[in-house]
This record gives sequence, structure tokens and C-alpha cells, in this order.
Amino acid sequence: MKKYIGLFFLSFSFCIYSAQVARKAFPCYDLSQVMRVEPTPLYKPHLDASKSFGIKLLEDSKAVQKYINNGKFHKIKKSGKGYHVQKLDYSRAWMVSKGKSMLEKIGARFSKETKGHTFTVSSITRTLEDQCRLRRVNSNAALGISSHNYGNSFDISYVRFNNVLRYNPKMELALEKILKYYYDLGKIYYIKERQQSCFHVTVKNY
Ligand SMILES: [Zn+2]
Repeated sequence: MKKYIGLFFLSFSFCIYSAQVARKAFPCYDLSQVMRVEPTPLYKPHLDASKSFGIKLLEDSKAVQKYINNGKFHKIKKSGKGYHVQKLDYSRAWMVSKGKSMLEKIGARFSKETKGHTFTVSSITRTLEDQCRLRRVNSNAALGISSHNYGNSFDISYVRFNNVLRYNPKMELALEKILKYYYDLGKIYYIKERQQSCFHVTVKNY
């Protein structure tokens, strides 16, 4: 009997120990530190646009689920006219309504201008937890808040068209022309991210 009681206490204390370890491991970010990182002047308008949708900084899956349940986040289909969404390991295929419709507009316009070609969306909405996981594999991932943390940004690869990874200056130019068109209309901001070979697109609450 004594032996069983000992075993019981041993497993009991192990459980407490693992719970403590788990609590230490999550969350993997320090919110006050994340908030303190100053955005670059180039990035600042993106964050300002993100904050105009009434979405709170997405920390985890639960927060994303809340906005799915209340109808604020809309599912992005795997493919549509002019675009494919690649397998997303560090982001989620949900966006605010204007984000989704702008992606569809850019896709449709690209398809029309290039007579049926497609581009690839490489990242969509990220929680702070997703960002931590991403940082483990990519040290360039933003340390501070990203406009992906609000559901109105997405990345379009400029080295993958028609699902083929290859430098394609003609397609890249066609894509940038369309981004410039929507930027001039006051609907989006975009940055060419050379390290990621993508255009980072943020939709404004126009
Ligand atoms: Zn991005």
C-alpha cells in the first residue's frame, strides 16, 4: 500500500511540475515588449490602417475564433480567379471582409491583365503565437506587432506564379502595376519585402 501511495504522490507532483513548465512556455511572447517595438516609418501606415477595423491584436486561436463566430472574419478560399493560397503553416486563411474582397479584386484584375495567370498568397492572418513559431524558423519575422495580427494584411509572392517557383520579371511587373493601381485609389498600402520575396499588402478601411 505504502508503495502505491508513494507512486501516487510521485505522479501527482510530476503533474504539477509539467503544468508549471507548460505555463512557463506559453505565452511565448511578452506583450509589453511586443508593444514597445517602434514600427519603421514605412510600416507605420500599415499598422494605423490595421487598427481602424475594430479588431483587437490577435494573440491566439481563441481570439481568431471569436471573430469568426461574430462574423467579422471571412474564410479565404484556397484558390480564386487569379490566385492560389499556398499551404499556410504560420498563418490562417481568414480576413476582415474588405481584406477578402480586395484580395479577390487584385486576383481578378491580375488574371485579366495577364490573360489567365495566377499568383500565390504566401501568408495571411497571424496571431502572436503564430508569430513566435514563425520566428523560430525565420529570424527576420517581425519582433513587434505586425499588421498580419489584425486580419487585414496578406503577402503575395513575387517569385511564384502559376504555382512555379521561378524569377519571372514580367509577372512581377504586372502584379506591382495592379498593387500601384489600388494604392493610388487609396485602398491599400504595400511594401516589397525582399527577404521574403513577397509584396506585403495591407488593406485600408476605405
Ligand atoms: Zn507580410
